[in-house]
This record gives sequence, structure tokens and C-alpha cells, in this order.
Amino acid sequence: MGIVNRLFLLIVSFGIVLALGIFPRSSVPVAQAQADSTAQALKAFAGMRPIDVHVHVFKTDPAFQSLLEQLNLKLVNILVMDDTLSYRKQLQPQIKDALALVQSSRGHIALCTTFDPYKFNNPEFGAESIKQINRDFEDGAVAVKIWKNVGMEIKDSQGRFIMADDKKFEPIYKDIAQHGKTLMAHLAEPDVAWGPPDASDPSWSYYQENPQWFLYNKPGFPSKQQILKARDHVLAENPHLRMVGVHLGSMEKDLDNIAAHFDRYPNFAVDTAARMEYLMIAPPEKVRAFLIKYQDRVLYGTDLDLLATADVPETLQEWQRTYARDWKFLATDEDFESEGRKVHGLKLPPAVLQKIFRENALHWIPGL
Ligand SMILES: [Zn+2]
Repeated sequence: MGIVNRLFLLIVSFGIVLALGIFPRSSVPVAQAQADSTAQALKAFAGMRPIDVHVHVFKTDPAFQSLLEQLNLKLVNILVMDDTLSYRKQLQPQIKDALALVQSSRGHIALCTTFDPYKFNNPEFGAESIKQINRDFEDGAVAVKIWKNVGMEIKDSQGRFIMADDKKFEPIYKDIAQHGKTLMAHLAEPDVAWGPPDASDPSWSYYQENPQWFLYNKPGFPSKQQILKARDHVLAENPHLRMVGVHLGSMEKDLDNIAAHFDRYPNFAVDTAARMEYLMIAPPEKVRAFLIKYQDRVLYGTDLDLLATADVPETLQEWQRTYARDWKFLATDEDFESEGRKVHGLKLPPAVLQKIFRENALHWIPGL
């Protein structure tokens, strides 16, 4: 080969390397393909008339309302009393805002109210809580939330952590059951909250942002097992109370344990809120078999939020990304990446998808 030809080849090869390097598989078509695949996923998702049973919405906005309408989406907006966050410290203002949001949503948002567990040591706690919950039921609330501050934060007058099966809660559970409403129970946290630190855990970033709930090396807190045992005791003692254990019932890494709970407690279901990532990293065949076997017991939820301070367009992007991702995971056999992990879609049967994305919510949260 002559020197000119060699030089020519070198230039051509260099050109190819440069083109591949600078424009890797041409970024514009890749971005376009991603946008198309998201749009396609959202369209199929909307076709289910989906219900997301676990969101936290603090304001509305025309763009937000229009997204709900585009996606045929119904939301259960969950209230929480949290004295570690200023905007969640007061109950009545939250209820008032949440009812106004329901009103403005044209049927797209329902309310899951809560009670104020920080009043636990007040002698009127039970009676006052019931009065307030019943008022919220009259105003249309479909469920009641109990939160992880029971078991992990609030103490009784003797300085002991209060547990979900404390007899002071019992009249509240009875009242919820009598009204045919549902208890949404977020008790305990993912395993990683008790440590050790694990950057590979899907919830790890949450504890970096919310160290008040990270219990590693903090002696004196109840174990996760103690908290879940108290939760199970409530299920056993209240067979007529429907309980949705949100966040996979805090058994995010143990499908066999969730299955055992389903077998043991007919009044128990779970939602997927903020724990879909754990299903994505578990063996796909196992998750698929679990979701098919227990297709009547798993409700779709995300834990997405729209805070009063949120940048609406940016937040709505995140909502769309999440719904598209979850649809791809449950409904298609696509391979995709989520948070740097490779995920393979489960392609669940359409009848199972219909239950997870919609019908189970209607069954477990009547009044929706
Ligand atoms: Zn939540």
C-alpha cells in the first residue's frame, strides 16, 4: 500500500472514530427514541384509567390538572403529620388545603386523611381523633394514614416508644372499620434505615437527605421486627379493618414474607410506593410469579409529590418519567436503565395489570 493510500485510510479511520466519539450513535435520534418510548408508555398507562394510591400533593396548577386529565389518572393524596418538616406540623391547615384540592380536581384526587399522633399523651387523644376523622369522612376522605413516627419517634408519658398496637389506637381502628374505610399504614422503614450504611440500596439517598430517620448507631430505638410485629398484631386483632401496608408493607426485600402476610391476613394488601426499585432489582421471574399469584393484593402507588415550593414543569417531568418507567417495568418486556441499573420488563398479563393499576385500588379503598 502506498503512503498516500495509507494516509487516506488513516484520515478516514480517524474521521470515523471522531464521528463515533463526538456523536455517539447520534444523540438526537436516541433522545427522540426515548421521548417516543416514554410517550408510548404513558399512552398505554392512561388506557388503564390508572389510580396512584400514594401521592403527596400540596398545590394545584393548570399544567398539573391537565396531566391528570391526559393520563386519565386518579390520585389518593395522603396527609402525614411530621414534626420534622415545617409544612407538615399542623393538621387542620393540611386538611383544609387537601379538601380544596379535591374540590378543584374534577374528580381526579381523593383524600387520605390522618390523625395527630403527637397528641397521644393527651387524655382526649382517642375521642378527638375519632371526631376529626369522622368529620373528614363526611367531607369525602376515603382512608386514614398511620405513619412511621408511631414506632420510630413518638414516646408515651413514660418515655417508651409508642407502638401501632397500643390500646389507645384501638378505638380509632374500630371507627375506621365501622365506616368501611381503609387504614394506610406506613410503619417501619426499609431495612437500610437500621444500617449499616449501604450506598447500593435504592433508599440510601433518602437517609442522606433525612438523617433523622436513619437509626444506625442510635441506641434505644425499637427494632424493625418489633415495629412490624405490632403492625401484625393490629391486623390480627382487627380482622374487619382493611389495611394497606404502604411501601410494600416495609418488607421491600422479602417477597416471601409479604406472601406469608397475605396468606395469614386476608385484610392486608400492600402498595408499591417508592419501592418499585426493589422489585426492579429482585429476580424478575420471582417478582413476576409473586405479582401473578397475589394479583388481588398489590396496589399501584408512587409516593410522587408536588410541594408548594416545587418547580411545576420540572416536577411534572419527574411524574411522567416515573409513570413511564413503571409501565415499562410491569407491562412490557423492554430492557431499560433506571438509576444506573439495567432492568428487564415483566410483561404481566393484561388482566393482572388492570388489577394493579386500577381495580385493586377500587376494591381496597372503597369510595374512590
Ligand atoms: Zn408517602
